Amino acid sequence: MVIMKRDVDINEISDGRRYKSNDMIKVGCAECSGCSDCCRQVDDTIILDPYDLYQLEKGLDTDFDSLMGKNPEPVIELGNADGLLLPHLKINNSSGACSFLNDDGRCSIHRFRPGFCRLYPLGRIYEDGGFSYFLQIHECPYPNKTKVKIKKWLDIDDLPAYEAFVLKWHDLLEDVRSELSGISDLSDRSRYTVAFLKRFYQTPYDTGRPFYEQFYER
Ligand code: SF4
Ligand code: SF4
Repeated sequence: MVIMKRDVDINEISDGRRYKSNDMIKVGCAECSGCSDCCRQVDDTIILDPYDLYQLEKGLDTDFDSLMGKNPEPVIELGNADGLLLPHLKINNSSGACSFLNDDGRCSIHRFRPGFCRLYPLGRIYEDGGFSYFLQIHECPYPNKTKVKIKKWLDIDDLPAYEAFVLKWHDLLEDVRSELSGISDLSDRSRYTVAFLKRFYQTPYDTGRPFYEQFYER
């Protein structure tokens, strides 16, 4: 599953168009009709943002450390995402597929699946202080796709608040990466990335409270 690429020519991987959430787009795949290909090729590409983590904590009644823990095996792990230490979904060691793909080839966390899973095969392009959606034309080989409104495809509560968060998070990551690039001492860099991780992921969210206010507080 290729979710988001940096430094790529959008014209090579898309139809060249930018879309907004009220636009219709050809992605409908009859609820995958028994296919689970993209969930079997996730590798380390499903990077989680704080909203994804909040949803997992709430949906699974758990916390970051337990998701990273060994009971029965970790379902998320940390990776280097352009210089930052960020969590991504971990593949299951025996199946090689996403840890949340069940034996029937369905997503066991469908109701609270991460944003990148909701997005696929769309991508986001950030420009001019905002972002648009684009269609990754080389992803999802399902034939004769039907047109669906992007808003419906994403299936996220309070989409305007979510999109505002997505943009804020993107800008924050850019700022943090830029700040990090100015820190040459390795142990200072490590302390910075660990503190960032702790603030936005490791410190548990109160799942009895709405997410966005907690995110902006942090
Ligand atoms: S590749 Fe397409 S049809 Fe197959 S599981 Fe993914 S989104 Fe569904
Ligand atoms: S979380 Fe669900 S939709 Fe996302 S890759 Fe895993 S099984 Fe597929």
